[in-house]
Amino acid sequence: MKRWIALSALAALMVGAHAADPYPSKPITIVVPFAAGGPTDRVARDLAESLRKPLGGATIIIDNSAGAGSSIGSNKVAKAAPDGYTLLLNHIGMATMPSLLRNIPFKVESDFEYLGLINDVPMTLIGKPALAANNYKELATWINANKGKINLGNAGIGSASHLCGLLFQNALQVDMTTVPYKGTAPAMSDLIGGQIDLMCDQTTNTTSQIEGKKVKAFGVTTAKRLSTPALKDLPTLQESGLKGFEVTIWHGLYAPKGTPADVQAKLNAALKAALKDPEFIKKQEGLGAVVVTDKRMEPAEHKKFVAAEIAKWSPVIKAAGVYAD
Ligand code: ASP
Repeated sequence: MKRWIALSALAALMVGAHAADPYPSKPITIVVPFAAGGPTDRVARDLAESLRKPLGGATIIIDNSAGAGSSIGSNKVAKAAPDGYTLLLNHIGMATMPSLLRNIPFKVESDFEYLGLINDVPMTLIGKPALAANNYKELATWINANKGKINLGNAGIGSASHLCGLLFQNALQVDMTTVPYKGTAPAMSDLIGGQIDLMCDQTTNTTSQIEGKKVKAFGVTTAKRLSTPALKDLPTLQESGLKGFEVTIWHGLYAPKGTPADVQAKLNAALKAALKDPEFIKKQEGLGAVVVTDKRMEPAEHKKFVAAEIAKWSPVIKAAGVYAD
């Protein structure tokens, strides 16, 4: 009996030693809740490269679990083992999903550990290359002449492009046919091919397409023009007469609720190191994104910021009267 106890104690000790392996000791998966090749995917892949070193050379796998405006991938992480090996990288959808998609199977505020904010990204209003308009004024004329026939792509109900498109239709008081995709990567292919007419999308996806003249650009959603060389001549939508039109997308990193505090601390430290990596900053700036340098890189501030964004957008979405159940 005694011998049995001694052996099981030894076994427990060995298991204990294994459980205490320094984190990370196996590949980390970052779930991107939108299609591969799109703006959220782009941020995640760039970030993963800069996270690798501060995480001791860890392998980081990107898992594109796309669909339903990011709620499928977010739910996957909310329900994953809280061990630091499954993380979520999502955007403003974390704040707009609870209002735009009322029946999500998880709670944004209580089912995740907040690991820090990554960047702020402007959006652009873009159109198919064959669209008979070359600036916002001509676009407004085209929209008036084509009411009832306009297709507007987005990344699903609850996504950033959905929110931006909604605000745009509201500002113009024109209804367009919304075409949802699993992300704006597939939507972009259809826009370039002329299957859809218009789309709002992050500059992390549109900059090279605008530069390469594959799509037409009609405005940027920030209050001021951007300094990115490829976008600096693009007027703001406010300048073009859409009073108060302002949407900036942000991305954050999350872990399932209950992830050990020391693992969260390691991930936050690695994130902060990645946000200071000149390579990451350069790549993001070239795409019109601004890497976070303020206190929102702290988990508590990240959480406060998301709560403030939920409070900011929920009345706007309610007033727009658009929900999906
Ligand atoms: N641009 C998408 C959105 O509108 C996200 C994505 O496709 O990565 O939310």
